[in-house]
Amino acid sequence: MRIDAWLAEASAQLEGHSDSPRLDAELLLLSRLGKPRSFLFTWPEHELPEPLVANLAGLLARRQAGEPVAHLTGQREFWSLPLKVNATTLIPRPDTESLVEAALELGLPDDAEVVDLGTGTGAIALALKSEQPGWRISAVDRIADAVALARANSEALDLPITVHHGSWFEPLSGQRFDLIVSNPPYIDPQDPHLGQGDVRFEPRSALTADDHGLADIRHLAEAAANHLRAGGVLMVEHGWDQGEAVREIFRQAGLTSVRTGRDLGNRERFTLG
Ligand code: GLN
Repeated sequence: MRIDAWLAEASAQLEGHSDSPRLDAELLLLSRLGKPRSFLFTWPEHELPEPLVANLAGLLARRQAGEPVAHLTGQREFWSLPLKVNATTLIPRPDTESLVEAALELGLPDDAEVVDLGTGTGAIALALKSEQPGWRISAVDRIADAVALARANSEALDLPITVHHGSWFEPLSGQRFDLIVSNPPYIDPQDPHLGQGDVRFEPRSALTADDHGLADIRHLAEAAANHLRAGGVLMVEHGWDQGEAVREIFRQAGLTSVRTGRDLGNRERFTLG
């Protein structure tokens, strides 16, 4: 079967199962071809061997059943970095790139001390390291498999960060930072969206928090004072409708200069103080 024919058929099969059927089909094919994306457009008449087509049929069936493309390919791009992903962590989202951008615009010193709490794949920490090689960047995760994944990504991308195993600030006693950044779980456990789409295949521990999704953000805001240097910044991601609540939590925790930034969809997405 030719590449162009396979892509047309695969996209049609994913229609109704994905918001981006064509892109999903391309990513699945590329993951098995081991070629750059341009190959699809420069050589559409390339014949796919039958065993490959059979293998891809299995992937298409799993995608139709809802499994995220990133789990099927084992990879997701974040900040143009190809990150290894698996079912032990949240799949990095483009929305989170807005935090990275804002962190880079803070004007921190060239040798800033930075920590990413609940790092998962290591996405935020590694993106920051790729832009600011002089920053000393730590990352923390409570899940041992996530720690292993973040370390594997750090090594594969040759972006040295220190990954600790523990809950939030626990492994950081006595340490203070110029920037504490986090994409914590913030979805209300009752949110009906948890039962739909790709999110069903991601760990609940990375998605939901008590108190309508705000419990972990409150913990981070309250504990931050003991871990920020003078003039240091806490920055957390949150839901598009949580901005007001998070600003209030930050102020109550004694953080000042509290403000909220927006994602690419122009929704309130992260707050800093
Ligand atoms: N923004 C993600 C979603 O809506 C959730 C990320 C998170 O909980 N940290 O699926």
